[in-house]
Formats: sequence, structure tokens, C-alpha cells
Amino acid sequence: MGKTIIISNRLPVQLQISNGTINAIPSVGGLATGMKSVHSGGESLWIGWSGLTNEETPEELELDIDKALAEHGCAKVKLTASEVDGFYFGFSNRTVWPLFHYFMEYTEFELDFWDTYKAVNQKFADAIIEKSNEDDTIWVHDYQLMLVPQMVREKRPDTSIGFFLHIPFPSYEIFRTMPWRVEVLEGLLGSDLIGFHTYDYERHFLSSVRRLLGLDVSFNEIYLDNRVIKVDSFPMGIDYKKFKDAAIAHDSKSIEERSDLQERLDSHKASAPDTKLILSIDRLDYSKGIAKRINAFEYFLNKYPEYKEKVRLIILAVPSRSNVPQYQLLKREIDELVGRINGELSTVNWTPIWYFYRSLPFNSLIDLYTSSDIAWLTPLRDGMNLVAKEYIATRTDKTGVLILSEMAGSAYEMNEALLINPNNFEEQADTLRQAIHMPKDEQIARNSFLQNRLERYNVEVWANEFMTALNEKRDVGKAYVSEKISTAILDSMENQYTKAKKRLLFLDYDGTLVGFHKDPQKASPDEELYALLDQLQQQENTTLFLISGRDKQTFGKWFLPKKYNMIVEHGVWISKNGEEFKMLEQVKSDWMGKIRPVLESFVDRTPGSFIEEKNYSLAWHYRNTDPDFGEKRATELNTVLRSLIGNDDISVLNGNKVMEVKSSNVNKGRAAVRMMADDDYDFVFAIGDDWTDEFMFQELPDSAVTVKVGLKKTHAKYHVESTKRVRELLNRFTQ
Ligand code: UDP
Repeated sequence: MGKTIIISNRLPVQLQISNGTINAIPSVGGLATGMKSVHSGGESLWIGWSGLTNEETPEELELDIDKALAEHGCAKVKLTASEVDGFYFGFSNRTVWPLFHYFMEYTEFELDFWDTYKAVNQKFADAIIEKSNEDDTIWVHDYQLMLVPQMVREKRPDTSIGFFLHIPFPSYEIFRTMPWRVEVLEGLLGSDLIGFHTYDYERHFLSSVRRLLGLDVSFNEIYLDNRVIKVDSFPMGIDYKKFKDAAIAHDSKSIEERSDLQERLDSHKASAPDTKLILSIDRLDYSKGIAKRINAFEYFLNKYPEYKEKVRLIILAVPSRSNVPQYQLLKREIDELVGRINGELSTVNWTPIWYFYRSLPFNSLIDLYTSSDIAWLTPLRDGMNLVAKEYIATRTDKTGVLILSEMAGSAYEMNEALLINPNNFEEQADTLRQAIHMPKDEQIARNSFLQNRLERYNVEVWANEFMTALNEKRDVGKAYVSEKISTAILDSMENQYTKAKKRLLFLDYDGTLVGFHKDPQKASPDEELYALLDQLQQQENTTLFLISGRDKQTFGKWFLPKKYNMIVEHGVWISKNGEEFKMLEQVKSDWMGKIRPVLESFVDRTPGSFIEEKNYSLAWHYRNTDPDFGEKRATELNTVLRSLIGNDDISVLNGNKVMEVKSSNVNKGRAAVRMMADDDYDFVFAIGDDWTDEFMFQELPDSAVTVKVGLKKTHAKYHVESTKRVRELLNRFTQ
């Protein structure tokens, strides 16, 4: 097995240049920690931007920088200041970030940003290609690099590629507004495995894939050409032990060892022992709902004035993206808000809000976490929110109350917290009151659950689970149910074909010889196909059958003049050598009057669907409906039909975006087996893409060569990827 290549916008080290020398200092963030088990020893490489633009990097230090990075298993992607502007501050933070967090009003669709984003993604992809081998495993991180998987896939079709999105994936209704929505989805679909924090983000992504690209999705798998892409949720954890150990160390510090911040917190507590400290920590970002929280705090103090002088809100807002205009405005708004509320409500002994606009070192965070009675986190939208998890991890005596927004990804795993809607001030005021009065026993009970879960599913487990799923995906891909037709198999098949004395071929039409079309009548045969079928037909000792669910009128029009043998309507009708269609099976059709109105009611209620009426079957097509809605209706129809048909001799077939009701004693397998009995064939071949073709694959004898088009589970022995490959395969028989 090869090495692991990790790619993220920033490297897990910070470069410092002083007096002409380079220092690379490892970062301590969640991702860097989580990847420890993945990024260790000499078996991995982390590729990313160093944080210094080309303009900031003295040329003579390039080699030293590379060396310093290499010592940490890292390699850099070089970016100019204008690339960082367009790619990071532009497209990533002024387009994707607001859009994916449902802030459409802040979203800017700038062509220049997009162009730079594409170019920089290509730079990352090129760096990966240059520094990796085919058998390496590649893990791409986050929204800055969504095009990278496909860019790598183009050059490395067989490499295992995973992608993890650390922010929310928005609902289709939001995502569809992006002018480059298709390119972004296609970029992501270069991966083998795509991970999200929550099932909802996964669901939104699958819905967009279905609706915007029209791809087949089955549960959490996407079928794209010759690949199956798996989508799953992996909620990111924290380095639980680090926070727990730091809190234990903090508890055992003597008075002299206390930090200045701790001293201040302690003196506050000493001066007013019955007051509660409420903590909030976030990057200064509009998605975090800081301004709303301050307003909600004012609302709380007005609704329950008895808590004036009894509570204090500590807000730590960490500076972030301060050269994006929206963030500058937000900073001003919060400054003013804190100023106004403190001005209006402060008393001689009490300032309601302590506000810090800065980043604090790790130990100060621990001071805050361990000293606060309540953590109040109210993001309007947050991919995960690690602060919530960190607060819980530091509560060594299991006391403390977490109030958490439902809009944070972490809320899904933290049910024992007090969950609130950040837009509901009334609810928040009441929840603050509940938190202030929550009995210790209850706090301990709730936090015990939370701590156990966080300790178990820590960030290392998260990273390992993702890697395991990615590796499994590769192994499953290898051992797929049917075998992909390789050149060697093709050679041996051709050989068998040439040697055979009597050959029998069954070729399905739609999805096999031709691709799908929105209007089935338009999927008519092309000249190339006629030429191919003519050649097969004219070969000696070869009996060719087109075998289809189509009606005899359409096939009669297309193929009767060509004198191809045909079995249509799944086996009801047969035509040989250009003769008129004859019935192959005696079938009843009296059930149709009962079923037709049911299908019609589904057509009425499902825009885009229609009924195809054949002589002995009725088909409800839903290829042109909204994909999610169509699937839902198909499930519903299936239930209705099954309850209706009871013991009647009819059955329901679920095809590719079509449900067909027909007599039970008719299917392609039965028809094919009957044809086999007509002569002594020593080469029997069947190819098809659909559920209805599975009857052939199952019922033909083991000696038959059976081929599925596409990757879905099958009884066929082999598979090919597309209709294009089908034609290449059949062409080999004409050599
Ligand atoms: N954090 C920090 N310094 C600070 C305040 C916070 O390093 O002064 C860390 C905090 O410990 C947490 C992270 O920043 O790990 C914030 O992560 P979160 O998921 O809550 O929000 P994000 O910033 O990723 O949107």
C-alpha cells in the first residue's frame, strides 16, 4: 500500500521567519490533532499553503522552507497575494462560506473569484500529482478545495480519493443559486468517499446530486459512469484527553500558579459568590450569531430583571477574516451593541458583559471553560462547533450547563445539552433561567452522557473511521459482485465466440445499445448501431435477438425492415427474420382496466411522469420528474399496486425510472430460455442494464456469458461501464 496524502488549504505548521532563519511550529488545532494517527511516521505527506504569499517569501529561503516543512511531513503549494485574495478571501469566504451557511444576502457571485478558485485548486491538484503515486490514498479537506478531487481523478483514475467537508452542505434550494453549482458537484464527485459532519448535510448533498446532475443515487451511493461514490457522515470529535488533562492540571494549580485571567475570574467569584458566569467563545463570524446572542441577553435581563447583578456574560470573539468587509461591519456592530448594553445596564458593582476581541492561548481557554457555570453557544448555522465539545470535556466534576443552538452540527450528538433556536429570544431567556437553576444532580447526569460519548468518539477515532471507510471502499470496489471486463477477458470472450459453432445473442436495447433519452421515442437507433447489428446478423451460425420491454409497434418500425429477430414487451411477442410479430406467451390483459386508473392518478399527482401503454403491460415512467419526488411516488405506487394485485397473475417490475405492471408468466429470462431450446447453441451471450434483464442472467445456464451494463448489483458474471463500452465489446465479435 502507498502513503497517505492529506491536502488542506493551510498546513498544520506555522512558518516564522526571523533574522533570515526559518522556524516551522506545529499548529495545535483540531484537524492537526485528529490527523496525528493518519499523518505520522514517513508514510504520509501533508500538502497545503504555508501561510506566506510568494511576495512574503524571500527567494533565498525557499529551500530552507521546504526543508523545514519536510521535517514535519509537509510540502507547500505556492500562492501569490492575488491568488490568496481571489481564492481564499474571495471565492472561499465571500461565496462558499456565506452560501453554505445560508447567508444568501452576503454571498457574492464574482466571476473573477471563481476563476482564481479554479486556478488555485488546479495548483493543489498539480502538487498532489507531482508528489504522489497511483497507489497512494488521498484525503482532501474542506470547502476551499472542492474541485481538487476531480482534477486529481482525471490524471489518476484509479487512485483512492476521499473528501471531507468541515462546513454545512446547504439544502438544494440554497445550493442551486450558485452559478457554478454543477462544476462544484462534479469536482467533489471525483472522490470515492465524501464525508460530512451530519446526516442532514449528507442528505442535502445527495439531493443536489440527484436534482442537478440527474445521477442515480441508491441509499448513500452515487453511480457515475464507471464508479460508485460513497457518501457518509462522520461527526468530528475533539482531542478529549488533551482538554480533560488540561482541566485536571488546572484544578491542581496553587494560588501562586494562577494566570492573570484566572485571578480576575476568581476575584469576581469571590466578590459575588452567588453570581453565575455565562461563557461564549466564537470566531467573530456572522454565522455564530454573536449579535443576536447579545440582544437575547438584553431581552433576558429585561424579562427577568431579578438576574441583574446575578449573571455576567463573557464573550470571547476571536478575530477572523478581518479583510472581508462583512466581518469589519460585524465587528463594529458588536462593539456598539456591547457598549450600548453595558452603558444602559451597568451598575457600580456590575458590568453585564465582559467582551474580549482577541485570540487567547490554550491555557486561558481552559481558565474560561473551567470557571464558567454556563456555556451559551448560539450559532445561526455551524458545521460542527467544537467549543461546545471542549467546554464539556473540561468539566472535571461534571457540573456546568451547555446551552447550544440546534443549528450547530454538534447538536445532533449533544442531545443532553439544552438545545435552543437562536432566533427565539423567549425560549433563550427561559432556558438561561433553567440553566441558572439546574440542580447539580441533573447537570452531572447530563454531562456524564455527553462526556462518555465525546471521550469515545474523539478526533482520532473520527480520522480513523474516515480512513477505514475509504480503504474499505477501495477493497469493495475491487471485489465487486460482477467482474469488470478486462482486456484479457475480452480476448478470451472473442476467442470463445470465434471458436463456437452456434451462437445465440440476446441484446437489451435501452441503456445497453443506446443511452436513455427524456422521450423514449427519441432514443431511436443510430446508423452506427444499425451497421453493428447488421454485421452481427449477417455472420454465419449466429442468432441475434433484440430483447426488450418496448412495444412491438416501435420496434416493428425501427427493426422489422432489418429483419432482426426481436422479443418485445418482455417476452410477449416475437418476430423472426422480418416476419410479423407473433405471441410467444398467452397472456391475459383483463387486469389492465383495474390498474390503469391507479397509474393515471399517479400521473396527475406527479408532474413529468407518464403512462406507456403496451399490449400486455402498463408502464409508469418517472424519468422526467423531480428525482426525489419521483422515487417517493414510486415507492408509494409500489405499495398501492402490491395491495391491489393480490393473487392476480400479474407482477410489478421496478426498472430504471419506470415501474411496469405485467402478467407474471412473462419475463425476458423465460423467453430467452425458450429460444435456447430451439437449437444446440455452444455460445450464449446476454447483455442488459436493467432489473428486467436480471431474469435472463438468472435463468440462462451457467455456461452463458452474461454482462451487466453499469455497476449495480447483478446476477451477471461481468459488467461493462457504459453503452459506449457495449458497442466496443460487440464490435469485437464482428472482427
Ligand atoms: N479557539 C482558539 N483560541 C481562542 C478561541 C478559540 O484556539 O482564542 C479554538 C477553540 O478551542 C476551538 C476553535 O477555536 O477549537 C473553534 O472551533 P469551532 O468549531 O467552535 O468554530 P470554527 O471557528 O471552526 O467555526
